[in-house]
Amino acid sequence: MAELFDEINPPPRLMMGPGPINADPRVLRAMSAQLLGQFDPAFTGYMNETMALYRQVFQTDNRWTFLIDGTARAGIEAVMVSLIEPGDTVLVPIFGRFGHLKAEIAGRCGAKVETVEAEWGTVFTPDRIEDAVKRVRPRIVALCQGDTSTTMAQPLAEIGAICRRYDALLYVDATASIVGMDLPVDAWGIDACTAGLQKCLGGPSGIAPITVNARVERAVLRRKHTERGIRPAGDVPGEGPRIASNYFDLAMLMDYWSDKRLNHHTEATTMLYGARECARIVLKEGLPAVVARHALASAALVAGLQAMGLRPFGDLAHKMPNVTGIHIPAEVDGEAIRTDMLNDYGIEIGTSFGPLAGRIWRIGTMGYNCRKQNVLITLNALEATLRAHGATVTCGEGVDAALAVYRTAEPAPARAAAE
Ligand SMILES: *Cc1c(COP(=O)(O)O)cnc(C)c1O
Repeated sequence: MAELFDEINPPPRLMMGPGPINADPRVLRAMSAQLLGQFDPAFTGYMNETMALYRQVFQTDNRWTFLIDGTARAGIEAVMVSLIEPGDTVLVPIFGRFGHLKAEIAGRCGAKVETVEAEWGTVFTPDRIEDAVKRVRPRIVALCQGDTSTTMAQPLAEIGAICRRYDALLYVDATASIVGMDLPVDAWGIDACTAGLQKCLGGPSGIAPITVNARVERAVLRRKHTERGIRPAGDVPGEGPRIASNYFDLAMLMDYWSDKRLNHHTEATTMLYGARECARIVLKEGLPAVVARHALASAALVAGLQAMGLRPFGDLAHKMPNVTGIHIPAEVDGEAIRTDMLNDYGIEIGTSFGPLAGRIWRIGTMGYNCRKQNVLITLNALEATLRAHGATVTCGEGVDAALAVYRTAEPAPARAAAE
């Protein structure tokens, strides 16, 4: 007889890496709600509510703001495969692993891929991006807002205007930064933007919020070739080349997410419940408050690490507020420290990739985990673990410095005011 395993009962962990993180318990509760049929009016009502909530999260009026089933990469692939026609020039400014990913996906879509690279730990000036756009004249520019592999955040406020000037479409992968940083999609002229739940939105990976504007809609509908078995009478196919993926065909997905409710896949009911709850929680706290909470945790964590005698990685003026890189001190084995943090404290911190593998740790302060107590607990555990491994650290100063940052930002306790 086949072995029957125990029920799933994960060990308690505090996930302070670059994502995924612990989900907000309210998201887990929403995800335990009973399923509904995908055309049940109660369910299509939830779909419409989810679209309305994510318009606020992305700060956009875009009608086409919905979810792609799959992890954040599903959102990336849906935009790229639907937008890129074979032979199109796509410019990818790369400042970390996720830039390379977009260049790779663009290549698979048949694009002529042009890249510019910033050294890991730095970002691009708008001028450098403008020069590249002027030189290669791309149809699409694709880049990250925040690349967790290097902890850097690319300023985007001017990039949309540059793309408009040269008639390029701007696609931004905001998986790692959404609600951890400001991201006014419409105000910044971003044509397409995608995300995931498992970073600052405080949910599990498995569904990707996206938003695309009317320029993208026009480009995609040109390529609409509805699947034969569901094609309505009188359907006129677009004159453009058919989108190479059925699952990620934004033109067909628009018919599923509109009142037409033209059948496509079976919407991932449970993931939609989770995504809806993530957005609801963030909007209830208020976007500016959520962004400020991430900025404060970042300031406290960096102050704590520096006071401990550690050196943060990269250009701190462009560090993502929700992930912090730290140079691994030469006298310790970075992986042994991570293992002890996990086994002794149940705390997960991250390593990095490529040129940074073994050189930096990455600590995330994101979403539900972005709280004072987690910053303090992680600093304490890291200090004790470093000491156990014989590293020189300044005892007690890390937590004190982080607490001091929180104290200056927090209002005095009510008790003091009443006295
Ligand atoms: C974390 C991250 C992703 C994750 O993609 P998944 O498919 O959900 O694993 C994508 N892009 C960026 C910039 C990220 O930081």
